[in-house]
Parts: sequence; structure tokens; C-alpha cells
Amino acid sequence: KTSVTFVGVFSDVTIRKKSEQELRHMATRDPLTDLPNRTLFIEYIDNAINTTNRFTPQFAVVFIDLDNFKPINDALGHAAGDKFLQNIAQTISQHLNDDQRLIRFGGDEFIVLAAGITDKNQVDALCTNLIAWCSTEFEVLEAKIVVSASIGIACAPDDGVTFKQLCRKADVAMYESKRKGRNRFEYYNTVLDERSDVLFTLLQQLRPAVLNHKLAVYYQPLMDLETGKICAMEALVRWPQEDGSLIFPDQFIPVAESSGLINQLGAFVLTEACEYCAYQHSIGNKYLSVAVNLSFSQFRDNSLPGIVEAALQKSGLPAASLELELTESILADDHGNIRKQLEHIKQLGVQFSIDDFGTGYSNLNYLRAFNASKLKIDKIFITTLGIDQKHETLVSAIINMAKSLDMQVVAEGVENEAAKAKLIELGCDIGQGYLWSKPIPKHEFDVLLNS
Ligand code: C2E
Ligand code: CA
Ligand code: CA
Repeated sequence: KTSVTFVGVFSDVTIRKKSEQELRHMATRDPLTDLPNRTLFIEYIDNAINTTNRFTPQFAVVFIDLDNFKPINDALGHAAGDKFLQNIAQTISQHLNDDQRLIRFGGDEFIVLAAGITDKNQVDALCTNLIAWCSTEFEVLEAKIVVSASIGIACAPDDGVTFKQLCRKADVAMYESKRKGRNRFEYYNTVLDERSDVLFTLLQQLRPAVLNHKLAVYYQPLMDLETGKICAMEALVRWPQEDGSLIFPDQFIPVAESSGLINQLGAFVLTEACEYCAYQHSIGNKYLSVAVNLSFSQFRDNSLPGIVEAALQKSGLPAASLELELTESILADDHGNIRKQLEHIKQLGVQFSIDDFGTGYSNLNYLRAFNASKLKIDKIFITTLGIDQKHETLVSAIINMAKSLDMQVVAEGVENEAAKAKLIELGCDIGQGYLWSKPIPKHEFDVLLNS
């Protein structure tokens, strides 16, 4: 009896030992790639810190975020997405040396912990390689999507000595890579940090302002150059401050975009703009249309068509009197998902215009395929028109090209009579700019319309 008990206890211990190991494995590994996860990563960092002092080499936390992974995952399905992540994990692992460990941090984020760094060039070389290992081209619904990596680097002990400090700083640096156009690496520096603190504070204040409808929509007239009359207006958002000043969209739109707040912001502007235009129709100005700007990130979760439809319904504005302004990069970055949403919105009868033309791809194919009703030439080509001949040929060429595609041409940033005269000479249809009016609040626009 005693021996039986003994055997029983013995096997109990082995089972427990075994399952403890399994448990630890499960708790420290990412199930998809079997790479070390965050928990193990914290241990690695602690170990690395404990063996690092100012006489021994440094180590680097290399934060990798894949660009464009989500659309592939969405389009090809999660199984394909998982397989893709496994492949990337394997490719990178194969190439790393004993001082370098790959960790799956979550989603499409990986970290390489590189110890034994004696020279920054070693980190540069590693990151250049990582970018090459991550880059892959996919064809999804006839569009080519490139997966690349945006990388941010924090170095210990200079940038920090805890998991938290290092990760946060590597993350800040990674965002800088994204901001500079992706597919690159950036080292953390304190300037970035100050900026991200500023952005964080901005976001904390922006959120309640958006949710409580404290933003304001201003309107700028678009002038028919032939008749000299207002034919449309562009809605431009402003953020009024308590001291009476305004914050301009270039300052807070990027914050809204990166935080997901852009959907609520966009819905607010659309609703306001449609309601104001519907009001103008109701007092007899039925010719007036309103243009609203869209950002790339408003296409992220497929909610846009519903938001547009709701704004039209709530206001009663005819769809044909609403125009959405897109930049070429939205059309270019298309991965089926965006195209579908645009098609849906088009079917409602909404018009489109291409914004900031001349600064991006200036690709005729996008324009031809997309069939927008207006082309807006970017203001950098317009402001000096009639004074300086530099952009005249280009502007003239854009106007002729747009005409051949049956699009109306809008010149933005018309600030003086010389530019206006030149545009009329070149056959431009519509002008927009400080020459006629800055963007103004509704009640001032009412006055402008009747003057
Ligand atoms: P945008 O779409 O290119 O808007 C035109 C910008 O040019 C506006 O700046 C306008 O005030 C300015 N502008 C107009 N006439 C002149 C002129 O004669 N000279 C000069 N120098 N500038 C002129 P604003 O209002 O600061 O808007 C900046 C950008 O923010 C817009 O550029 C647009 O991309 C974005 N934005 C504005 N409102 C919204 C919005 O509701 N949603 C989204 N997603 N983006 C918005
Ligand atoms: Ca615009
Ligand atoms: Ca523009």
C-alpha cells in the first residue's frame, strides 16, 4: 500500500512538473508563431539590464510594425494573414544571431532585442536587413499591396533601463518612421518625445471636443470664374478654444486620424455641412453644393457609406449637392475595400472631387478610372500665378487634361487679381481663395451669399 502511494505521489510530481513546463511555455510563447511573447520579453530585458553596466556593450530594442498588413488580412482572410505572420517570424528568426531575439509583441508587431551592441552600425545593419526580410508584394483584387516594415529603435541604457521605458520610446520612434513614409527605421530621440507628449495632451482635449460637438465648421466659397458668382462651398473644420482663438485642422486632423476619432469628427462635419447646405436650398439657393474633405483613415472600418447616407437623410440634402474631396493617395492606396465603399457612396448620387492635385501621383489612370467631377489644383501652383511664370505651363497642362476627361477644374489658393486673370485666360472653371473670402462661419456666409 505504501509503495502504491509512493508511486502515485511520484507520478503526480512528474505530471505536475510537466504541466508546469507546459504552462510556462504557454504563458511565455505566442501560440501562432511560437515566438517568445511580452512576458518572456520582460524577463529578457531584465536579464540584459542586469548584465549591462557602463563598461559593457549596450542593447537595442527594435520595434517592428508591418505596414499595410491589415488590408491583406481583411482581403485574404485571417488564415492567410496568420500564415503570413508565421512566415515573417520564421524568415527573421532564421537570420538572427545568438545575441538577437525575436519577440511577437502582438498583432503585426514584432520586437528584436539585440544585445552585445558595441557600435550603432550594427543596429543600422540589422534594421536594413529587417526591412528587406519583411517586404513582400501581394496582389489583392488586381491591386498590388506592399507589406513593408516601419521600425523604431530605443537603446539601453541611454534611452531607458526598464521594459516600459524602452518599449514606449521604441514605439515613439516607430511612429516617426510611419510619419516619414514607412518602410524605414528611426532612432528614438528626445525631440520626438516632446512631440508625442504634445500630441497626447492634444488628443485628451480633442476627444471631448469632438464627442460634445464643440468643433465648428467654416465655409469657403467656390467662385464660378465665368459669372463671378458663388457656385459651391467647401466645409473646413475648426477647433474653437476658450480664449476665442481657433486651432486649424492641420494641427488636429492627424491626431484624430491616428486615434480613430476621425470617424466621429468626419460624421460631425458631414452632418453639419449637409444641414447648412439643405438650409440654403430651403431659402431658395438650390444651386449651391457643399464639399467635404475625407481622410484616408475614414475608410478604415467600412462605416463611411453609412455615415454619408445618414447625413443626407437627416438633412434632406439631395445627394447630388454633396461633394466629397479625396486626395489621389486615397485612390492609389486602394485595396478593394476602399473602392467598394467609394462605389457604394457614388451609387447614392454623391459627387467626388480630387483634392490637392499636382502634389501627389498626378496619375491620369486613377482619374480616368475614378470618374470624379472636379479636379482641384493645389494652391502651391496657384498663389504665384500671373506673377511668376514658373507653374504656368503645368497649370495649363492640368486644365487641358482635366477638360479632356470632362472634369471641372478648381484652382485653390487664388489670392490676387493677377492669378485670377491668368486662370481665366487658361480656361479654368472655378476659383477658390482669399481673393474672394477666407473660410468663414455660417452667419457670415449667409451675408456673403446675399451680397
Ligand atoms: P484643403 O482641403 O487643401 O483645404 C484648403 C485649405 O486652403 C484650407 O485650409 C483653406 O483655408 C486654405 N486656403 C483657402 N484659400 C486660400 C488662399 O487663398 N491662400 C492660402 N494660402 N490658403 C488658402 P484649412 O482650413 O487650414 O484646412 C487645411 C486642411 O485640413 C484641408 O486642406 C483639408 O485637407 C483638411 N481638413 C479641413 N477640414 C477637414 C475635415 O472636415 N475633414 C478632414 N478629413 N480634413 C479636413
Ligand atoms: Ca479640400
Ligand atoms: Ca486642397
